[in-house]
Amino acid sequence: MAFTKKTVRDIDVAGKKVLMRVDFNVPLKDGVVTDDTRVRAAIPTIQYLKEQGAGIILISHLGRPAGTGFEPAFTLRPAAEKLAELTGYDVKFIEDTYGDEAAAACAAVKPGDILVLENVRFLKAEKKNDPAVAEKLASYADIFVLDAFGTAHRAQGSVVGPAAYIPAVAGFLLEKEVDTLTSIFAEPERPFVAIVGGSKVSSKIGVLDHLIDSADTLIIGGGMAYTFFLAKGYSVGTSLQEPDWIEAAGKMLEKAEAKGCKILLPIDNVVTDDFAENNVIETVDSDKIPDDRMGMDIGPKTVELYCDAVKGAKTVFWNGPMGVFEKDAFAKGTEAVARAIADSDCTSIIGGGDSVAAINKFGLADKMSWISTGGGASMELVEGKALPGVEALLDA
Ligand code: ADP
Ligand code: MG
Repeated sequence: MAFTKKTVRDIDVAGKKVLMRVDFNVPLKDGVVTDDTRVRAAIPTIQYLKEQGAGIILISHLGRPAGTGFEPAFTLRPAAEKLAELTGYDVKFIEDTYGDEAAAACAAVKPGDILVLENVRFLKAEKKNDPAVAEKLASYADIFVLDAFGTAHRAQGSVVGPAAYIPAVAGFLLEKEVDTLTSIFAEPERPFVAIVGGSKVSSKIGVLDHLIDSADTLIIGGGMAYTFFLAKGYSVGTSLQEPDWIEAAGKMLEKAEAKGCKILLPIDNVVTDDFAENNVIETVDSDKIPDDRMGMDIGPKTVELYCDAVKGAKTVFWNGPMGVFEKDAFAKGTEAVARAIADSDCTSIIGGGDSVAAINKFGLADKMSWISTGGGASMELVEGKALPGVEALLDA
């Protein structure tokens, strides 16, 4: 599916003031940005707008402040400084968002200028999508650009609001994210192998359901595999399990069969006797998990099976680790699958906070075709939902 909304390429921005919603929700430690991925991701659009001669006003949220005014732990100043450092551009920051100071600073923006306003969430009304917030923000500029993919699934004032007042288009990051994550349902190069892991079936049911419609093979790993085992009548010991979701898991297996999507479940598992101490670590077949053992990772036979499936794929979508990868003893399955994807020529698309963290931990990020910058937003797209932020933009 091609992107169906207007982008910055489709609108004349020269000499105009552009209000651009970015996702500068970066992790901070002692006022320093510890991971600048999200700032980097916004640069192509900022660069384009600057080169076109637009004056740029950047807005974003950061963290979860109370919404009752300025809080030093949530200031966007470090993100603005990071943008200046990464681009070499002169970036002005102002400690105000909705007040007279912000209005005056926006009024003074000239073509090529970059101004960053303070955290939009210092005012509670922002999250509630109060029209007064949207109208205020829109009054600062001629054009609205949404490039904050990570918050595009939230119908909040600074995301969806300005589009009601000024022409609203997408930035390059938003366009690429939506295009990439919807392409796996529209025209994936086949075979298309989807890999879903992580902790719970309940949080991924929509993802599984939609992937079964499109994938040739669906690989299941992580904690959610045990609820599938219960659906197949295996016992799972003390492994993570969701009794209320056994029926849903069984339905997924039936749906996959009906749709001709092959499902792969672990054939062996690395189990332990205690989540905290991990005194005993052993490998057991999936139909032989002892009552006092907990599944923590896929076993070596499963690794081989899954890596073979990845090797034969032209497109791979991956969300959710294969085991408790945060502990080295249970990271092997996730690492092996990540390496198989990295070593393959397939188009590889990765979504989900922990999956991305795992890939970064193994140093494989630059071997993937696309790593989504948005956890929740990417999952909603993969569930087949429309994102409110994208819906609000002008149709192409
Ligand atoms: P993502 O953020 O990539 O969408 P999730 O949040 O769904 O992934 O799941 C990640 C979590 O799943 C990790 O914290 C990991 O430790 C946990 N997990 C993986 N396998 C197991 C397992 N066998 N038992 C318990 N937790 C698991
Ligand atoms: Mg997660």
